[in-house]
Amino acid sequence: MGRLDGKVALISGGSKGQGAAEAKLFAQEGAKVVLADILDDEGKKIEAEINETGGEAMYLHLDVTSEADWAAAVRAAVDSYGKLDILVNNAGILLRKGVEETSAEEWDRVQDVNSKGVFLGVKAAIPAMREAGGGSIVNISSIAGLRGSTSTAYGASKGLVRLLTKSTAVQYGPEGIRCNSVHPGIIETDMTEEMLDSVGREQWLARTPLRIIANAHDVALGVLYLASDESRYVTGSELVIDGGITA
Ligand code: NAP
Repeated sequence: MGRLDGKVALISGGSKGQGAAEAKLFAQEGAKVVLADILDDEGKKIEAEINETGGEAMYLHLDVTSEADWAAAVRAAVDSYGKLDILVNNAGILLRKGVEETSAEEWDRVQDVNSKGVFLGVKAAIPAMREAGGGSIVNISSIAGLRGSTSTAYGASKGLVRLLTKSTAVQYGPEGIRCNSVHPGIIETDMTEEMLDSVGREQWLARTPLRIIANAHDVALGVLYLASDESRYVTGSELVIDGGITA
């Protein structure tokens, strides 16, 4: 028996990194998965991999900054699989720049994808989850959303995700719609490749009490718990998956 048997999940940014790891794990656990991204070729490969290994998945194009794309993605999940139970707002972009180095255009772009993109996803999913009798929304923030960092626009966008999550939890808890945020530390994906190379792996390991640089699956396991009914009493919470960095 899978931990997500009978569930339908929509995952943004599902073509690679953490989103792809979540799509594969969710499918293994019995969910029907709609993975959505702007990287169509990569997404179709993940879709094929899941379907060829006994899972059920569908890829579709979704730019999280587009309200119309979100409406189409939710509609596709409901039309194809009958309902929507789980949304993982995972898509994001990183900008490692201080206040004075960040242009207004760069600020807007980061907020558009990382914060407005999450807001639009939450807004689009709620009516379908209400129709399904409840649901679970998991918003991927960061430890940069919990404390100050040198990534100004990125940290601000992830801090917004943290509070949007709590507002959603408070407003929709009575309808059985839960909403939690996840705060990964340093996870080895394309997003962090350049940072890990420039700062150096030894430096990052020294800053991490568990002396681990995590992989996408480490985060996916936490997201799985929040997506499943095992966390039925958990909403508005912050799951920190960071090897102890913020401890
Ligand atoms: P990733 O490998 O870069 O994957 C992110 C995916 O989202 C990519 O496929 C990316 O496409 C896509 N994306 C970007 N803009 C989009 C848009 N407008 N609409 C739809 N999809 C879009 O990064 P990751 O490490 O898996 O990150 C996943 C999430 O975890 C992000 O929200 C990130 O901020 C967060 N996070 C990551 C870390 C870490 O250490 N890796 C730590 C804390 C939090 P492109 O490649 O074309 O941009």
